[in-house]
Amino acid sequence: MRPAAVYLVGAGPGDPELITLKAIRRLREADVVMYDRLASEELLEYAKPGAERVYCGKSPGRHSMPQREIEKRMIEYALAGRTVVRLKGGDPFVFGRGGEEALALAELGIPYEIVPGVTSAIGAAASARIPLTHRGLSASFALVTGNRCHGDTAPVRWDLLAQGVDTLVVYMGVSRLGEIRSELLRHGKSPATPVALIERGTTAEQRVITGTLDHIHKLAEAMKLGNPALIVIGDVVLVREQLLLLEAEARLQIG
Ligand code: SAH
Repeated sequence: MRPAAVYLVGAGPGDPELITLKAIRRLREADVVMYDRLASEELLEYAKPGAERVYCGKSPGRHSMPQREIEKRMIEYALAGRTVVRLKGGDPFVFGRGGEEALALAELGIPYEIVPGVTSAIGAAASARIPLTHRGLSASFALVTGNRCHGDTAPVRWDLLAQGVDTLVVYMGVSRLGEIRSELLRHGKSPATPVALIERGTTAEQRVITGTLDHIHKLAEAMKLGNPALIVIGDVVLVREQLLLLEAEARLQIG
């Protein structure tokens, strides 16, 4: 039997409306949907009746299905002729281990396709009203992981990021916020740099807190910042303040 296809599909950042048409089409075709914690459960409604749903978990520090097991199951389904959608939060190729899954499939000659999604940095920044680039404030941004594993061969170059990139968006940084702050300050980032913490971006439960790099860790503690959350560091955070102010003024004038 020829193996069925595996689709590595981005579910978008949380708001279920931010999925793509192609992702919905692939969901409708799938015999098995293997989904992550960060993929909105509402999206499973697009799967055809009778499609098998496999929860792959993954909350920080508590992987309910190890990565190798996910890959093994995905491969088994495909070899048995069942079309698989591997539904991942945000974009599958941005801190989503989609590359590893694609490699595992390619190695066995299993057909696969990557369906991109709106990554959480893009989604959350938009709904928090923070432009990642802005004339005069930011000509570049970087998406950075805050939790490089021990012994990783590609450590995050905070020294270069502190100096060479205007806007930083840190994924998976909540538990290491203090260290990230110290690294950036040590490498010359100003303590007055504006920072936003965005929890559950794009969802109805979104929370945004702004402050400066100097006291960002205290802010996070005070707001009991939970997962998933992103840290946006850079002057562009000020645009949010400006927009909110203008909106408030407009409301006052109308009222
Ligand atoms: N592939 C995903 C990222 C997975 S890594 C993507 O493209 O978005 C998981 C991290 O993503 C979380 O620790 C958090 O930093 C971030 N994240 C995912 N969804 C989020 C959301 N709705 N709001 C804020 N951060 C989010």
